[in-house]
Amino acid sequence: MARVLRMDPMDQATPHPNSSDLYAALNVEPADHAGGHRYIHVIGTSVFVDTELADESWERHVVGIVEGDAWWAVDVPADAEDPSYGSALDLFSYFGRAAQSEWMAAGRAVQIVEWARTHRFCGRCATPTEPSPGERGLKCSNCGLVAYPRLAPAMIVLVTRGEPGPDQEALLARGVNFPMPMYSCLAGFVEAGEDLEGAVVREVAEEVGVRVGNVTYRASQPWPFPHSLMIGFRAEYLSGDLVLDETEIADANWYRRDALPTIPPGISVARRLIDQWLAEA
Ligand SMILES: [Zn+2]
Repeated sequence: MARVLRMDPMDQATPHPNSSDLYAALNVEPADHAGGHRYIHVIGTSVFVDTELADESWERHVVGIVEGDAWWAVDVPADAEDPSYGSALDLFSYFGRAAQSEWMAAGRAVQIVEWARTHRFCGRCATPTEPSPGERGLKCSNCGLVAYPRLAPAMIVLVTRGEPGPDQEALLARGVNFPMPMYSCLAGFVEAGEDLEGAVVREVAEEVGVRVGNVTYRASQPWPFPHSLMIGFRAEYLSGDLVLDETEIADANWYRRDALPTIPPGISVARRLIDQWLAEA
């Protein structure tokens, strides 16, 4: 019950931007790069994007190439003067004000900077780490342990009940931490040693008390709050009555397509799972 998955309504977006070169695995600028530079200054967990680097001495990480420009993540030290003069935006606010590829790059920048901030020392022997040559890693110079950027896989699932057709229902829930009365898919983190399908079955049982089966993969979405990967599924109801875990779920019900509550806006993976189901009728 430790980790709470943040599921705000701005829960957005996973396109496959035309940026297969976004995910630079090396922390070096490509040698043949001829375009411009953009600097994503990461201030706390907010971002301020500029064509100028505010301070040469701040730690930088290559994010990747976005539409010809090399994008950098810049770790703004906590005690530094704010280079944005208060205009930095958290990632939720940045969405909608940036092109989708830029939002993806900003999410990646925050994740990389947060990872580097929290892996300054070896977790095994406490020696300071250094960049590991030839890969995106932080390596211990004493014992050789390498830390890679962290990802926390989380499943999200749309559960349906009944035969396909107009009478089929979907299970939608309102999380206790939703800031507005919105109903969405169930979601939760994958436990160590657990497979994804097992996480779906377990989380649904824990959160709303019903058994599900026939779990099938549908879509995924990077979710940089702070380092999740959302993996989207469909599942079918098998048995049980709704019994809510009130520490996580404020309300949950079965809904027909013609009587839906407020659902997530935009093209979040939750919304995509719901839209796929709506299109089946
Ligand atoms: Zn070590």
